[in-house]
Amino acid sequence: MFTKLLVANRGEIALRIIRACQELGVRSVAVYSDADAQAPHVREADEAVRIGPAPSSESYLKGDVIIEVAKRVGAQAIHPGYGFLSEREWFARAVREAGLVWVGPPAEAIAAMGSKTAARTLAISAGVPVVPGTAQGLTDAAEARTVAAKYGYPVLLKAAAGGGGKGMRIVRADGEMAAALDSARSEARKSFGDDAVYVEKYIEGPRHVEIQVLADSHGNCISLGERECSVQRRHQKMIEEAPSVAVTPELRKRMGDVAVAAAKAAGYVNAGTCEFLLDRDGNFYFLEMNTRIQVEHPVTELVTGLDLVQWQIRIASGEKLPFTEPLVPRGWAIECRITSEDPANGFLPSTGRIEHLHLPSGPGVRWDGGIEAGSEVGLFYDPMLAKLIVHAATREQAIARMHRALLELTIDGIETSREFHLRVMEHPDWQSGNISIQWLEQHLDAIATPQPPDDAVLAAAVAAALIAERDRSARGGVSTTAASSAAPSSSPAAATGGDAWRRAGLLDGLR
Ligand code: ADP
Repeated sequence: MFTKLLVANRGEIALRIIRACQELGVRSVAVYSDADAQAPHVREADEAVRIGPAPSSESYLKGDVIIEVAKRVGAQAIHPGYGFLSEREWFARAVREAGLVWVGPPAEAIAAMGSKTAARTLAISAGVPVVPGTAQGLTDAAEARTVAAKYGYPVLLKAAAGGGGKGMRIVRADGEMAAALDSARSEARKSFGDDAVYVEKYIEGPRHVEIQVLADSHGNCISLGERECSVQRRHQKMIEEAPSVAVTPELRKRMGDVAVAAAKAAGYVNAGTCEFLLDRDGNFYFLEMNTRIQVEHPVTELVTGLDLVQWQIRIASGEKLPFTEPLVPRGWAIECRITSEDPANGFLPSTGRIEHLHLPSGPGVRWDGGIEAGSEVGLFYDPMLAKLIVHAATREQAIARMHRALLELTIDGIETSREFHLRVMEHPDWQSGNISIQWLEQHLDAIATPQPPDDAVLAAAVAAALIAERDRSARGGVSTTAASSAAPSSSPAAATGGDAWRRAGLLDGLR
């Protein structure tokens, strides 16, 4: 096992890795930008080194600087977390060439799965079912229309280098093709420096179900079961759970076998995730493999009892997996992504200082966060502040537990996605598990818009205020009802829409 590891990330995932190091007895080294000088991950690590100014292109994406720091402080390994440099093949290679250990898959496996078209080709050769479509970039709209005619509309244009839902366009008719292809290409070029776009059949009403795999360097590769991530907005996950209501033990085994086959075909080592679409008839199609730890890994940890980040480090240090059979999930886990976005305002990014933070606790509640009272939330990085995760015996109990935990959570000073999650937990479709990847978009207006309180709630609020007023006059003192301490928060770019920030590349660190 290493004695010192450098964490090439920030926020909640940096803290998560530091915690894993502490439990393994490995010293941790944080790196930080000027914007993060006071961040919790800097304080919690055993050592911390400044790597540059706030923009991630000048700090968290500076692979050469990070490798130099690792060598200087005597770290033997680098953990990239997710986003930033985690899926850059050149960085994984440079770390290895610098004589350091990369806590992740070999650079060759990242390359094999790095482009969606390369991954499709590999998957097909390994007998993994993929969404019908092409495996090469399109030359022009005429070719795209010919392919669409073969599979039937609607189809989905996708950037070969895609990630984070960027460069994707649904096309429902021939007449829309040319404009959609142009805009998918230009978004792909801007986001990834590569404008290759291919076409897939658009699957209506599927679920997003992904399989976590873990592979050691001794040839063992196992499936840790599924996560369902169908609650998505603009192809971005908002809520994840494990297991999935749609997956039977038999389907879990089949999907697990396929994911392991894909991982083996890529020469995979370490933790990885194969993403699938599962249609209403129980057919599943491989989408891509994420060659890193994922945001939603905690739900798998809670139902398997494994510490995935510790296993990443143990595998990188050469340890062998002690199990060879897939694990059976125990109970139910749900994760809500707490972001600095304002659901009532088109999910515009909200910035400001966190004036007050009260964290939920009690049975079965886990908080993986990167913020504290006093943290400044700006626009330089991804808006995900934290993840609230719960575990309970059944799905119904897990939903009730998440609802209770969200009610306990207080974040004052900025707008967050908390209210949005409360409303999803209360929704009958979510409660019955009757959802697909299109469900949220279809119900977003009702879920994201603040609901006027109903008469009973209003009457209770008035009664509470009257009682407080009576108590105050009885004591001749100050009211004990809590006044909101929320500082004014700003939601910029109102005119351009929230995702404009992401498109403009201001928010690095893809989720
Ligand atoms: P990215 O890497 O940009 O996140 P993915 O291929 O993982 O792209 O797809 C992201 C999401 O887009 C999926 O979870 C799903 O919601 C939707 N999606 C992708 N491919 C299809 C498809 N062929 N049909 C319907 N929805 C799709």
